[in-house]
Amino acid sequence: MKYCQDCGTILKGRTDKKFCDDYCRCHYNNDINRDREQDFKKINSILRKNANILEKLVGQGIRISTPHLLSAAGFNFTFFTHQLNEQNGEICIYCYNYGYVKINEGQLVIKQVTHSLSSN
Ligand SMILES: [Zn+2]
Repeated sequence: MKYCQDCGTILKGRTDKKFCDDYCRCHYNNDINRDREQDFKKINSILRKNANILEKLVGQGIRISTPHLLSAAGFNFTFFTHQLNEQNGEICIYCYNYGYVKINEGQLVIKQVTHSLSSN
């Protein structure tokens, strides 16, 4: 027995059917798109918050911080936009145009993108 993926009604007839009709298919796909949009928005807001935290610190003249202090400010280390290899071999983790390099287990240096991203 097969059921409509949208409303759960038992499907009769062709066995390759997934939905009762076009209405159920559209409804189901709209839900998926809405969920995807919400996931994008959630991740985007985390990334923006991360970038804002770094921007604020740089604005205050603070260039060295600790993972603990950033976490306390709401920084989420799981999410970042990209990473770049610095000339000295360090790897900088960016959230948009602000990033950080771990210089040891307890400290990190905040970086600001000064080069063109389009060159990559
Ligand atoms: Zn249905």
